[in-house]
Amino acid sequence: MRRPNLNSRVGRTVRPGIKILPLLLAGWLLICSPGGGCGPSGPPVFDGEAAFDFLEEQCRIGLRYPGSREHRLLQRYLADKLKDFRANVSLQPFEGVLSTGDTLHLINIISNYNREAKKRILLGAHYDTRPVADRDPDPANRLKPIPGANDGASGVAVLLEIARLLGEHKPPVGVDIILFDGEDYGEADKAEDFCLGSSYFARHLKGYWPASVIIVDMVGKKDLVLKKEAYSDAYSSDLLEEIFSVAHRMGISEFRDEVGPSIIDDHLPFIRAGIPSVDLIDFDYRYWHTIQDTPDKCSPRSLEAVGRVLLEYIWQQGS
Ligand SMILES: [Zn+2]
Repeated sequence: MRRPNLNSRVGRTVRPGIKILPLLLAGWLLICSPGGGCGPSGPPVFDGEAAFDFLEEQCRIGLRYPGSREHRLLQRYLADKLKDFRANVSLQPFEGVLSTGDTLHLINIISNYNREAKKRILLGAHYDTRPVADRDPDPANRLKPIPGANDGASGVAVLLEIARLLGEHKPPVGVDIILFDGEDYGEADKAEDFCLGSSYFARHLKGYWPASVIIVDMVGKKDLVLKKEAYSDAYSSDLLEEIFSVAHRMGISEFRDEVGPSIIDDHLPFIRAGIPSVDLIDFDYRYWHTIQDTPDKCSPRSLEAVGRVLLEYIWQQGS
């Protein structure tokens, strides 16, 4: 964010005395009103290239499915990054029990900004990647893990860049960035084995009640198209409309005014809990659950479109 340099502007042009300065200040505040996107009241500027670096860094760690060494390395990377970005970070370990009876040791990574604020917004994304590429066109690849550039790394990349900015610019409301584990482990026909981290978190709210929950998932694809995910549209239409109208006002064309498919994702446990919750997702991705889900299919522009809208939405909640 660039701030106008009031001192040099005032000093060079009119050299105001004490009586003129308050008038100038008032005029400046009017021009840069909340939502106007400039000055101290507007959000900081999301950098798509920086977010894309976070996407690539996650992929360079390796195949990050629960139980793998790379999954543990990723947990450390994410917690360290969030601490670097001045968040208050805590870990929520839990056991995810699958319908097969198998148990996974999982960890949600929780970070907070503006902890004192009562009104809070939860931004969430899953960081785990799928252990099997069961949609791969080549049957020989279907037992291999996916790289998860779009399905996993993209949502986290957007939230890491937001975290970096919130560490430098205190948001006007509380923001909790939660990186969920165990979203993508289940077999395709067993819905209960998906979204393990968000389900656990939503069952243990202990009085925490965010005003809204926004999940980002598969938001990195080149030529991103974000339709209105159907569960979000059915159960949290006010929140969804608010976010899409922010995007339209900003001229961000990736957000489209049409209803897309229903997706089982990390927003559903919060909808069930009664909290307005939406999922921003482009499910029309031909490399979904294949070993071709790699960074070259993704773009900084797509991450930036989503990140800019989220930051504008956050800053509007404080006005
Ligand atoms: Zn997936």
